[in-house]
Amino acid sequence: MAEDPGNEALGERFRALPPVDRLLAGLSDLPHLVARDVARSALDRARALIRAGGQITEDGVADIARRLADEHSLQLMTPVINATGVMIHTNLGRVPLGESQLEAVRRVAGGYSNLEFDLVGGRRGDRYARARRTIAALTGAESAVVVNNNAAAVLVTLSALCDAKEVLVSRGELIEIGDEFRIPDVTASSGARLVEVGTTNRTHLSDYERAITPASAAILKVHPSNYRVVGFTSAVTTKDLARLGRGRGVLLIYDMGSGSLDDANEGWTAGEPKVSHAIEHGADIVTFSGDKLLGGPQAGIIAGRKDLIDRIARHPLMRAVRPGKMSLAALEATLTLHLEGRRNELPLWRMASATAEHLEERATSLAQVLSERLNDAKVEARLVAAVAGGGTLPDTELASWAIAVTHPEIGAAEIQRALRMRARPVVGRIEDDVVLLDLRTVAPEEEAVVADALVEILN
Ligand SMILES: *Cc1c(COP(=O)(O)O)cnc(C)c1O
Repeated sequence: MAEDPGNEALGERFRALPPVDRLLAGLSDLPHLVARDVARSALDRARALIRAGGQITEDGVADIARRLADEHSLQLMTPVINATGVMIHTNLGRVPLGESQLEAVRRVAGGYSNLEFDLVGGRRGDRYARARRTIAALTGAESAVVVNNNAAAVLVTLSALCDAKEVLVSRGELIEIGDEFRIPDVTASSGARLVEVGTTNRTHLSDYERAITPASAAILKVHPSNYRVVGFTSAVTTKDLARLGRGRGVLLIYDMGSGSLDDANEGWTAGEPKVSHAIEHGADIVTFSGDKLLGGPQAGIIAGRKDLIDRIARHPLMRAVRPGKMSLAALEATLTLHLEGRRNELPLWRMASATAEHLEERATSLAQVLSERLNDAKVEARLVAAVAGGGTLPDTELASWAIAVTHPEIGAAEIQRALRMRARPVVGRIEDDVVLLDLRTVAPEEEAVVADALVEILN
């Protein structure tokens, strides 16, 4: 091989590459171990380029290293301004927490706490006792436990109560929530056997009645959170399912998803089933998320009959899905806000209850300020539709106001990317080649950051 002139030329180009140490000099802002890794990766890429017949200068290698270093600085989770208008945004961390929720986390996160310690008796305590009392007061349930998220809540409930037995689910409720959370798969993972009942659009009480056998452990009712079956449809009420279950010795488990607590039955959550109604109508167990309509941290809440909650709490899986102190502190604070009628201190509820008139005012004045500061770009206030998101309220849209941004030379996709790549990233959406920044999900104090970003990108 040595006589191959091609290989010799390759070797020469390899030898001309800068040594790692010289690249490291330009990466002194990174921790040494990371800088070394970045320098080596840059050299690997340069060699690959040479092998593919290309050429690269020392500056070229340094540029690659710099780009890799910049990517590294994006590897820490970072706050993002949500200008999408999607209030419960799973990819952007579901919902923001408010001051009292954050304060609850701050109080316990920096030190030790009574997370699982009984201060009166001086011995091991119950991690869930505080949340349990508030959940019971809010929902009317006898007892409750908390896990990592609602997916875990469903899994551990079915595992503890239905293992190796049958679970009846309507074919209209065999849902996929997103990120591969599918009711048939979760049921299978729990060890329970899924029995499909009824049809996609209509399931009757008699369908359930006929499907119950001595091997049946429970009926699982699932709130089809992220879609609606409309038209010639029929589903069985919680009350009827509970009555049937009690008569035949099977449990009623209700995966409610969004966890709507308010029973006033008004406003933007009017269409969602209420947790307290499900308990009152006889569901033995309900499960719901902490970070959907509850407006709190990621968590899954399991509430219902005390004997069943005790069984769930003792199941070995509980240990694998238990929440940490920061989540529980934030959840306890969230539940307290609901209990004390201080829901409007939850950022989600503040966002949802902002009036279209108020948002129009904000959008109009921001557009005006920007029009004065921008050279060629055009900015105007525009009426748009915001959504709840997170697989909740799929057919509810809230009138909202956005600023619509266009530039004669810079395309919408490019503007959007530049906004995303800022030190304080701004995430918006594009409609008809126009960048829309929806103010319903942007906090008033974030407006100045959005404005500065647009001025720097577009002028
Ligand atoms: C959202 C949802 C889930 C998953 O909840 P996570 O808290 O995201 O794990 C499960 N079931 C239903 C009906 C849902 O709406």
